[in-house]
Amino acid sequence: MAKTNLSNHLFLLAATTSVVALLVGFAPPEADKTTYALDVPLQIPSQDSIQLSAINNQLSIQIPSSERHRNIGIDSADLENNAPSSSDSAFNITTIRNLPNADLEFDTTVDQRDGANYKTYTKVIKAGDSIYRILSSHGVSDSDIYEISMSDKKPQELTVMQPGQTLSFELKESGNKVEVNKLILQKSLLEQVVFNAKDGDFHKERFVRTPEIVQVYKEVSIKYSLSLDGLEAGIDQSILNQLSNIFAWDIDFALDLREGDTFSLLYEEKLLDGKLIGFGNILAAQFVNNGKTFQAVRFETSRGSHYYTPDGLSMRKAFIRTPVEFSRISSSFNPKRLHPIFKTARPHRGVDYAASTGTPIKASGDGKIIFKGKQNGYGNVVIINHGRGYTTLYGHMSRFVRSLKRGSKVKQGQVIGYVGQTGYATGPHLHYEFRINGKHQNPVTVKLPNDIPMTKKDLKRYLPYAQQMMSSLRSYHSHEYAQKLAKLKLTSKK
Ligand SMILES: [Zn+2]
Repeated sequence: MAKTNLSNHLFLLAATTSVVALLVGFAPPEADKTTYALDVPLQIPSQDSIQLSAINNQLSIQIPSSERHRNIGIDSADLENNAPSSSDSAFNITTIRNLPNADLEFDTTVDQRDGANYKTYTKVIKAGDSIYRILSSHGVSDSDIYEISMSDKKPQELTVMQPGQTLSFELKESGNKVEVNKLILQKSLLEQVVFNAKDGDFHKERFVRTPEIVQVYKEVSIKYSLSLDGLEAGIDQSILNQLSNIFAWDIDFALDLREGDTFSLLYEEKLLDGKLIGFGNILAAQFVNNGKTFQAVRFETSRGSHYYTPDGLSMRKAFIRTPVEFSRISSSFNPKRLHPIFKTARPHRGVDYAASTGTPIKASGDGKIIFKGKQNGYGNVVIINHGRGYTTLYGHMSRFVRSLKRGSKVKQGQVIGYVGQTGYATGPHLHYEFRINGKHQNPVTVKLPNDIPMTKKDLKRYLPYAQQMMSSLRSYHSHEYAQKLAKLKLTSKK
């Protein structure tokens, strides 16, 4: 008998909270949201066997008993009119209160043990939410909130909750007293911080899960673009971005790709309980561009993780090929150029990249600014010394980056100024020169030096590993792909 009463009580609580959730879910957005309590005289065998469903404003409570299922239909219109109706049992409907909108964000479950109600609220954190506001709006006392925040020892997490994280808390309600029994901040799929009430104090614990990492192999033949064909092959955009970064010094993915280019790669997927939750790194990759094969293997040295050719040269070059996004080369490197009218030698010692005024110009390599200012024909010009005998020059700038001075250190890719047409220029373009030991080179074709090489000790570790990675990449190749590669090698030998 006592058990039946308890069960009935549970049913009511479950019904109340779920009815709210269901009605809210199905009501038009502007409708008034009201909570109803149902007082239903029913025999319910166990809490687990109650099912609630709502279709078209019709709330249905299904109670499977040992012999049969009983359905009680309640029309939401009946609820509004306070007019009870039932196909099965008589029940009373009482309007409890209008629900403040804020509560709609919470998922609620109810449990009852030791003569008290335990309600669990779950909420996805939004910008502007604070632990104080959330808990106090549920009747938690200031002193309880204070106790929790005191137990949130460094690193503090509750004061810096981020939008998208999930907060759930279990409140123990006995009489008028509301206490926090447990509070869980789900920081990410992998990290959870739990606060448990214990003798008026809170005990903080952290749980971190490690995802399972699996290696995935993919191979793709380019038909349209890296992105289109890669995504079609089921490769995530973040992995495709990694891929284009690895080969950025060798392949211009906007201009150099050809139909029939191929790439294959081995990368990591992160799984949690068998579900894909994210991506790791590309471990090894091969790109065949216009008959030329590029290969890269990821390897960790004392300088961090980087990509290297199978021989151990850095994939990252000391220079990027073009320091500006340009529309076309308006004048090529030509040291023997003659003046069109006077037929005298008028060499063009750099390359002109046409681009609109204001386009950012990047330092092509790490170095130090050795000149910044006006020079006759060059207009506003910057010269960078990269060490090892390398210097680069950038002319006709409309303006400089003001914070940079003579002597400033710059990084590869750092913006140093903007395209213009100062000095002798007929249209906006960047005049770019590349010098090795004072001698001008063609910036478009010069062999770019590799980045700082790895130490001999690292290389000794790396070479056998790279061989192993390249052979595992090969072993994954499909027959079709292998044939294609063989054909490419044949044609490039001709
Ligand atoms: Zn020029």
